[in-house]
Amino acid sequence: MEMDVKRIVEKRVMDDIKKYPSFKKTLVALSGGKDSASLLHILSSFLPDKEIMPVHLNLGIPGFSEKSEDFAKMQAEKYGLKLVVFDLKSELGFTIIDALKLYPKICSVCGGIKRYVLNKVAYESNADIILTAHHLDDFLVRMLKSVLNAKIEELVRFKQYLPRNGNLIAKGRPFWRVPESLISRYASLQGLSFIDERCPIGRKRNIERLRKAIDILAVSENQKNVYLSSLVKIARKLEKVKPLAERTQLIPCSSCGFLSSNPVCSFCTRVKKIRGFVEGKH
Ligand code: SF4
Ligand code: ZN
Repeated sequence: MEMDVKRIVEKRVMDDIKKYPSFKKTLVALSGGKDSASLLHILSSFLPDKEIMPVHLNLGIPGFSEKSEDFAKMQAEKYGLKLVVFDLKSELGFTIIDALKLYPKICSVCGGIKRYVLNKVAYESNADIILTAHHLDDFLVRMLKSVLNAKIEELVRFKQYLPRNGNLIAKGRPFWRVPESLISRYASLQGLSFIDERCPIGRKRNIERLRKAIDILAVSENQKNVYLSSLVKIARKLEKVKPLAERTQLIPCSSCGFLSSNPVCSFCTRVKKIRGFVEGKH
Protein backbone atom coordinates (compact mmCIF):
# COMPACT_ATOMS: atom_id res chain seq x y z
CA MET A 1 0.00 0.00 0.00
CA GLU A 2 2.79 2.39 0.93
CA MET A 3 4.62 1.56 -2.29
CA ASP A 4 1.36 2.30 -4.10
CA VAL A 5 1.20 5.82 -2.72
CA LYS A 6 4.76 6.50 -3.86
CA ARG A 7 4.21 4.95 -7.27
CA ILE A 8 0.85 6.63 -7.90
CA VAL A 9 1.97 10.12 -6.89
CA GLU A 10 5.22 9.99 -8.83
CA LYS A 11 3.60 8.47 -11.92
CA ARG A 12 0.82 11.06 -12.06
CA VAL A 13 3.28 13.93 -11.75
CA MET A 14 5.77 12.61 -14.26
CA ASP A 15 3.11 11.52 -16.79
CA ASP A 16 1.88 15.10 -16.76
CA ILE A 17 5.30 16.71 -17.04
CA LYS A 18 6.11 14.49 -20.02
CA LYS A 19 3.23 16.13 -21.87
CA TYR A 20 4.73 19.63 -21.49
CA PRO A 21 6.86 21.04 -24.31
CA SER A 22 10.50 20.33 -23.50
CA PHE A 23 12.21 22.73 -21.08
CA LYS A 24 15.70 23.21 -19.70
CA LYS A 25 15.22 25.31 -16.61
CA THR A 26 12.32 25.33 -14.20
CA LEU A 27 11.44 27.64 -11.35
CA VAL A 28 9.81 25.74 -8.49
CA ALA A 29 7.79 27.77 -6.01
CA LEU A 30 8.79 26.53 -2.56
CA SER A 31 6.58 27.66 0.32
CA GLY A 32 8.12 25.47 3.01
CA GLY A 33 4.94 23.34 3.17
CA LYS A 34 4.38 19.68 2.33
CA ASP A 35 3.00 20.14 -1.19
CA SER A 36 5.91 22.04 -2.69
CA ALA A 37 8.40 19.96 -0.67
CA SER A 38 6.93 16.82 -2.30
CA LEU A 39 7.03 18.41 -5.74
CA LEU A 40 10.69 19.35 -5.35
CA HIS A 41 11.47 15.85 -4.10
CA ILE A 42 9.91 14.27 -7.20
CA LEU A 43 11.50 16.73 -9.64
CA SER A 44 14.96 16.27 -8.14
CA SER A 45 14.63 12.49 -8.32
CA PHE A 46 13.19 12.23 -11.83
CA LEU A 47 14.61 15.22 -13.71
CA PRO A 48 18.35 15.11 -12.99
CA ASP A 49 19.15 16.73 -16.35
CA LYS A 50 17.01 19.84 -15.75
CA GLU A 51 18.10 22.99 -14.00
CA ILE A 52 15.85 23.49 -10.98
CA MET A 53 15.61 26.90 -9.34
CA PRO A 54 13.67 26.85 -6.05
CA VAL A 55 12.18 30.24 -5.18
CA HIS A 56 10.63 31.27 -1.87
CA LEU A 57 8.65 34.42 -1.15
CA ASN A 58 9.09 35.79 2.35
CA LEU A 59 5.84 37.63 3.03
CA GLY A 60 6.94 39.17 6.34
CA ILE A 61 4.37 37.50 8.60
CA PRO A 62 5.92 37.54 12.10
CA GLY A 63 6.62 34.07 13.45
CA PHE A 64 5.38 32.31 10.34
CA SER A 65 7.50 33.66 7.49
CA GLU A 66 10.83 33.06 9.26
CA LYS A 67 9.92 29.42 9.89
CA SER A 68 8.61 28.93 6.34
CA GLU A 69 11.83 30.32 4.87
CA ASP A 70 13.97 28.09 7.11
CA PHE A 71 12.07 24.99 5.96
CA ALA A 72 12.23 26.03 2.30
CA LYS A 73 15.98 26.55 2.63
CA MET A 74 16.43 23.14 4.24
CA GLN A 75 14.32 21.49 1.52
CA ALA A 76 16.36 23.07 -1.28
CA GLU A 77 19.70 22.25 0.35
CA LYS A 78 18.71 18.61 0.67
CA TYR A 79 19.09 18.36 -3.11
CA GLY A 80 22.14 20.61 -3.31
CA LEU A 81 20.08 23.55 -4.58
CA LYS A 82 20.41 27.15 -3.53
CA LEU A 83 17.16 28.75 -2.51
CA VAL A 84 16.35 32.10 -4.12
CA VAL A 85 14.49 34.23 -1.57
CA PHE A 86 12.34 37.16 -2.60
CA ASP A 87 11.79 39.19 0.54
CA LEU A 88 8.73 41.38 0.14
CA LYS A 89 9.86 44.00 2.67
CA SER A 90 13.31 44.55 1.19
CA GLU A 91 12.28 44.17 -2.46
CA LEU A 92 8.96 46.01 -2.47
CA GLY A 93 9.07 48.08 0.73
CA PHE A 94 6.12 46.46 2.52
CA THR A 95 5.04 43.19 4.08
CA ILE A 96 1.81 41.31 3.50
CA ILE A 97 0.76 42.52 6.99
CA ASP A 98 0.93 46.12 5.67
CA ALA A 99 -1.15 45.06 2.66
CA LEU A 100 -3.69 43.42 4.97
CA LYS A 101 -4.54 46.81 6.50
CA LEU A 102 -5.60 48.05 3.08
CA TYR A 103 -7.01 44.82 1.70
CA PRO A 104 -8.95 42.77 4.28
CA LYS A 105 -9.59 40.11 1.62
CA ILE A 106 -5.87 39.56 1.60
CA CYS A 107 -5.64 36.16 -0.10
CA SER A 108 -6.55 37.35 -3.58
CA VAL A 109 -4.05 40.25 -3.30
CA CYS A 110 -1.37 37.99 -1.84
CA GLY A 111 -2.00 35.38 -4.55
CA GLY A 112 -1.69 38.06 -7.25
CA ILE A 113 1.59 39.34 -5.79
CA LYS A 114 2.99 35.81 -5.62
CA ARG A 115 2.03 35.03 -9.23
CA TYR A 116 3.54 38.28 -10.47
CA VAL A 117 6.80 37.92 -8.52
CA LEU A 118 7.31 34.28 -9.54
CA ASN A 119 6.79 35.22 -13.19
CA LYS A 120 9.20 38.18 -12.92
CA VAL A 121 11.90 36.07 -11.24
CA ALA A 122 11.43 33.29 -13.81
CA TYR A 123 11.56 35.75 -16.71
CA GLU A 124 14.68 37.49 -15.43
CA SER A 125 16.46 34.18 -14.80
CA ASN A 126 15.55 32.71 -18.19
CA ALA A 127 13.51 29.86 -16.75
CA ASP A 128 11.26 28.14 -19.31
CA ILE A 129 8.53 27.12 -16.91
CA ILE A 130 7.16 27.76 -13.41
CA LEU A 131 5.98 24.69 -11.55
CA THR A 132 3.64 25.04 -8.59
CA ALA A 133 2.12 22.45 -6.26
CA HIS A 134 -1.62 23.14 -6.75
CA HIS A 135 -3.32 19.80 -6.19
CA LEU A 136 -6.61 18.12 -7.09
CA ASP A 137 -8.48 19.65 -4.14
CA ASP A 138 -7.23 23.15 -5.09
CA PHE A 139 -8.44 22.63 -8.67
CA LEU A 140 -11.83 21.35 -7.56
CA VAL A 141 -12.42 24.21 -5.14
CA ARG A 142 -11.31 26.92 -7.55
CA MET A 143 -13.19 25.58 -10.53
CA LEU A 144 -16.35 24.89 -8.57
CA LYS A 145 -16.21 28.38 -7.04
CA SER A 146 -15.97 29.85 -10.54
CA VAL A 147 -19.02 27.85 -11.65
CA LEU A 148 -21.08 28.84 -8.59
CA ASN A 149 -20.21 32.51 -9.12
CA ALA A 150 -20.64 32.27 -12.93
CA LYS A 151 -17.07 33.50 -13.39
CA ILE A 152 -16.57 31.95 -16.79
CA GLU A 153 -13.28 33.71 -17.56
CA GLU A 154 -11.80 32.35 -14.34
CA LEU A 155 -13.05 28.84 -15.01
CA VAL A 156 -11.62 28.79 -18.51
CA ARG A 157 -8.27 30.22 -17.39
CA PHE A 158 -7.52 27.74 -14.60
CA LYS A 159 -5.51 25.05 -16.36
CA GLN A 160 -2.92 22.45 -15.50
CA TYR A 161 -0.60 23.87 -18.14
CA LEU A 162 -0.40 27.35 -19.61
CA PRO A 163 2.03 27.93 -22.49
CA ARG A 164 4.35 30.91 -22.57
CA ASN A 165 2.78 34.13 -23.81
CA GLY A 166 5.32 36.91 -24.45
CA ASN A 167 6.90 37.80 -21.12
CA LEU A 168 4.49 35.57 -19.24
CA ILE A 169 6.39 32.33 -18.60
CA ALA A 170 4.76 28.90 -19.09
CA LYS A 171 3.10 27.44 -15.99
CA GLY A 172 2.61 23.83 -14.99
CA ARG A 173 0.67 22.31 -12.10
CA PRO A 174 1.66 18.64 -12.22
CA PHE A 175 -0.17 17.74 -8.97
CA TRP A 176 -3.55 18.57 -10.48
CA ARG A 177 -4.67 14.92 -10.45
CA VAL A 178 -3.25 14.19 -6.99
CA PRO A 179 -5.47 14.79 -3.94
CA GLU A 180 -4.03 16.58 -0.93
CA SER A 181 -4.49 13.50 1.27
CA LEU A 182 -2.18 11.50 -0.99
CA ILE A 183 0.46 14.23 -0.97
CA SER A 184 0.38 14.27 2.85
CA ARG A 185 0.98 10.53 2.91
CA TYR A 186 3.68 10.81 0.28
CA ALA A 187 5.50 13.55 2.23
CA SER A 188 5.47 11.57 5.45
CA LEU A 189 6.47 8.29 3.74
CA GLN A 190 9.44 10.05 2.16
CA GLY A 191 10.39 11.58 5.50
CA LEU A 192 10.24 15.13 4.16
CA SER A 193 10.46 18.03 6.57
CA PHE A 194 8.04 20.88 6.13
CA ILE A 195 6.22 23.57 8.08
CA ASP A 196 3.03 22.12 9.46
CA GLU A 197 1.29 25.39 10.26
CA ARG A 198 -1.24 27.40 8.35
CA CYS A 199 -0.72 30.98 7.36
CA PRO A 200 -2.16 32.89 10.34
CA ILE A 201 -3.71 35.72 8.32
CA GLY A 202 -5.43 33.75 5.55
CA ARG A 203 -9.17 34.44 5.50
CA LYS A 204 -10.39 31.75 3.18
CA ARG A 205 -13.63 30.90 4.98
CA ASN A 206 -15.62 30.38 1.76
CA ILE A 207 -12.87 28.22 0.35
CA GLU A 208 -12.78 26.12 3.52
CA ARG A 209 -16.55 25.62 3.37
CA LEU A 210 -16.35 24.55 -0.26
CA ARG A 211 -13.51 22.19 0.57
CA LYS A 212 -15.63 20.54 3.27
CA ALA A 213 -18.62 20.34 0.91
CA ILE A 214 -16.48 18.61 -1.72
CA ASP A 215 -15.23 16.14 0.89
CA ILE A 216 -18.85 15.29 1.72
CA LEU A 217 -19.85 14.96 -1.96
CA ALA A 218 -16.83 13.01 -3.10
CA VAL A 219 -16.55 9.95 -0.93
CA SER A 220 -13.49 8.63 -2.71
CA GLU A 221 -10.43 9.96 -4.42
CA ASN A 222 -11.73 8.52 -7.65
CA GLN A 223 -14.92 10.52 -7.34
CA LYS A 224 -12.90 13.71 -6.91
CA ASN A 225 -11.13 12.92 -10.15
CA VAL A 226 -14.47 12.29 -11.88
CA TYR A 227 -15.80 15.67 -10.67
CA LEU A 228 -12.65 17.40 -11.83
CA SER A 229 -12.96 15.79 -15.27
CA SER A 230 -16.54 17.09 -15.49
CA LEU A 231 -15.49 20.63 -14.60
CA VAL A 232 -12.65 20.50 -17.10
CA LYS A 233 -15.11 19.27 -19.76
CA ILE A 234 -17.39 22.24 -19.07
CA ALA A 235 -14.43 24.65 -19.17
CA ARG A 236 -13.14 23.31 -22.49
CA LYS A 237 -16.62 23.49 -24.04
CA LEU A 238 -16.94 27.09 -22.95
CA GLU A 239 -13.49 27.84 -24.29
CA LYS A 240 -14.50 26.52 -27.71
CA VAL A 241 -17.29 29.08 -27.87
CA LYS A 242 -14.71 31.84 -27.46
CA PRO A 243 -11.00 30.92 -27.25
CA LEU A 244 -8.98 32.24 -24.31
CA ALA A 245 -6.86 34.50 -26.53
CA GLU A 246 -9.99 36.29 -27.73
CA ARG A 247 -11.36 36.62 -24.22
CA THR A 248 -8.43 38.50 -22.78
CA GLN A 249 -6.49 40.87 -24.97
CA LEU A 250 -3.21 41.40 -23.17
CA ILE A 251 -1.15 44.57 -23.48
CA PRO A 252 2.18 45.53 -21.84
CA CYS A 253 1.68 47.31 -18.51
CA SER A 254 2.77 50.93 -19.01
CA SER A 255 4.67 50.80 -15.73
CA CYS A 256 6.47 47.41 -15.67
CA GLY A 257 6.05 46.04 -19.20
CA PHE A 258 4.61 42.67 -18.23
CA LEU A 259 1.53 41.65 -20.18
CA SER A 260 -1.73 42.58 -18.50
CA SER A 261 -5.42 42.97 -19.27
CA ASN A 262 -5.27 46.59 -18.01
CA PRO A 263 -3.11 49.52 -19.17
CA VAL A 264 -1.44 49.43 -15.72
CA CYS A 265 -1.31 45.91 -14.28
CA SER A 266 -2.97 45.09 -10.98
CA PHE A 267 0.41 44.40 -9.36
CA CYS A 268 1.76 47.89 -10.15
CA THR A 269 -1.51 49.53 -9.11
CA ARG A 270 -1.60 47.71 -5.77
CA VAL A 271 2.10 48.12 -5.01
CA LYS A 272 1.78 51.88 -5.54
CA LYS A 273 -1.24 52.03 -3.27
CA ILE A 274 0.31 49.93 -0.51
CA ARG A 275 3.60 51.88 -0.63
CA GLY A 276 1.68 55.15 -0.41
CA PHE A 277 -0.20 53.81 2.60
CA VAL A 278 2.98 52.60 4.34
CA GLU A 279 4.87 55.87 3.66
CA GLY A 280 1.90 57.97 4.74
CA LYS A 281 1.97 56.33 8.14
CA HIS A 282 5.51 57.51 8.94
FE1 SF4 B 1 -1.22 34.68 1.29
FE2 SF4 B 1 -1.65 33.55 3.68
FE3 SF4 B 1 -3.72 33.98 2.01
FE4 SF4 B 1 -1.90 32.11 1.45
S1 SF4 B 1 -3.33 32.10 3.20
S2 SF4 B 1 -2.74 33.61 0.02
S3 SF4 B 1 -0.03 33.05 2.23
S4 SF4 B 1 -2.42 35.53 2.98
ZN1 ZN C 1 2.86 46.42 -14.06
